[in-house]
Amino acid sequence: MSINKIEGLDAVIVGAGFAGLRMLYTLRKAGKSVTVIEASDQVGGVWNYNRYPGARCDVESYDYSYGFSRELEQEWRWTERYATQSEVLNYIRYAAMKFDLNKDIIFNTRMTDAEYNEHHANWTIMTDTGKEITARFLIMAVGQLSQPKKPDIPGEELFKGEILHSALWPREHVHFEGKKVGIIGTGSSGVQMTPVIAKHADHLKVFQRTANFSIPACHAYISDEEDAEIKEHYQERREQCRNSPTGLGFMPNKTSALDDPPEKREEVFEAAYNRLGFGFALAYYDILLNQEANDLAADFLRRKIAEKVEDPETREKLTPRGFPFGAMRPSVDDGYYEAFNRDNVELVDVKEHPIQEITETGISTTAEHHPLDMIIYATGFDVFTGSLLAPKIVGRKGLTLKEKWKDGPVNYLGLSTADFPNFFIMVGPGSPSLLSNVLVSTEDHADFISDMITYMDENHIREVEANPEEEREWVQHVNERSKETLYPKARSYYNGDEIPGKPHVFMPYSGGVRGYRRILQKVVDAGYEGFEMKKAWNRLRDNVTRY
Ligand code: NAP
Repeated sequence: MSINKIEGLDAVIVGAGFAGLRMLYTLRKAGKSVTVIEASDQVGGVWNYNRYPGARCDVESYDYSYGFSRELEQEWRWTERYATQSEVLNYIRYAAMKFDLNKDIIFNTRMTDAEYNEHHANWTIMTDTGKEITARFLIMAVGQLSQPKKPDIPGEELFKGEILHSALWPREHVHFEGKKVGIIGTGSSGVQMTPVIAKHADHLKVFQRTANFSIPACHAYISDEEDAEIKEHYQERREQCRNSPTGLGFMPNKTSALDDPPEKREEVFEAAYNRLGFGFALAYYDILLNQEANDLAADFLRRKIAEKVEDPETREKLTPRGFPFGAMRPSVDDGYYEAFNRDNVELVDVKEHPIQEITETGISTTAEHHPLDMIIYATGFDVFTGSLLAPKIVGRKGLTLKEKWKDGPVNYLGLSTADFPNFFIMVGPGSPSLLSNVLVSTEDHADFISDMITYMDENHIREVEANPEEEREWVQHVNERSKETLYPKARSYYNGDEIPGKPHVFMPYSGGVRGYRRILQKVVDAGYEGFEMKKAWNRLRDNVTRY
């Protein structure tokens, strides 16, 4: 008999990706009763869905992993500097198995609604399978890149070939051989899949609207010696990550790009370009802060593109212009530019000649018709807020999160929002999130939330939520910090520009993971300053009932 109601839990966590699993582990260790609900049939979050060819993590494997268990980090053996999608997924599955997490996860179940009951100070969570769960705390670990975005192109239903989305990639092998393939989108997903599909497809057309910057990944296998060396000093490496601005372990070069003579600067750029991936952005501390410094880095990258792409017209189209390097999230690639030197690969500029429609046989732009057998949307996501606003979440007095956030996300520290008591968001807008190594940010949030719940229980506190004034100030602070950087100078998902009509608001916190963690610590030291806590938790804790 299936259990349709679960009542009296301490917490429900939505999502069994990296964040949800870490939250489950930590709360369970703190003695709380917890259930995770997960829409898929297995753990993994985005890594479960983004299975497109060439999908890899572009944070180094040893840093894109949990730091809470010495045992786990010593026994897991990464094989490559940047892990493939399947290796990351295997790692998550391994961690779930090792800590016996699956037993507290309800799979194949999506949260559709959640409503706060002020009288009982708890949440009722409704799901697409009819299962209903009540819990004191609702924790959203739904990811920032989990609501795939399809372009709204007329005629899609007429297409006789196959249509795939990078973020909803089938588990079965996809054959490209003998096919004319079109990829729409040149963000990280499009950039990663292009060189791989190019090797298999008869012909590949890449439909590019905005040319962005990409840095070579410089993939490498990890030798046993290297693995042993890293593991011997793993704690130092973790500390370096935690204390670096981005959580990636790179400390910015303290020199300004403007202060080094040109030859020296070229050497610094060259060294960073050939080894650091994203770390290139910190080759000088002011690359993401000062337009002139940024211009030097951008010029260097444009010259690199010019060295790699043979055809002058394609080269020009692939060259990013009009926004600072890094202001749109750059890609880390493995032969992206070189792929355009192949005879079977073609760049289609859809900024100059926009896509008009999909027909039975391909894609028509304002310039011409492109016959295709397969169309791949690598068109990204409704980032930061898409997956948080997809379910209907109702706080006090019938207020929905969607209504409250109609002009953009409003929250305190990215974690909590007024009128939604006992509701937490992991690694979402208002926190370092996608401007950081999300694994570092995930662990910071899991610890903070778990400690806060423990504190509440020890102090008989029934409800917690952000103070409305403090959250207004936090949103303003996030906005002001962004103005110290060059991020607002591009149309990007950092600003909510990826979806027409979405509020144009800077979403992540750009003050760095270390700075952010210090703020969290100050808040804790001041007795959870900025949060409103209601005492009088005097009812007996419910026993968990399942029926
Ligand atoms: P994305 O960066 O948002 O890129 C979407 C692409 O689709 C852009 O080039 C966009 O062009 C284009 N596009 C969207 N709608 C279009 C339309 N109607 N017509 C033509 N082009 C359209 O999405 P993504 O590549 O999936 O990457 C999203 C994020 O996921 C990355 O930034 C990264 O944070 C993460 N990611 C990480 C990894 C990794 O760790 N290895 C890999 C993949 C993705 P415009 O720029 O003109 O809007």
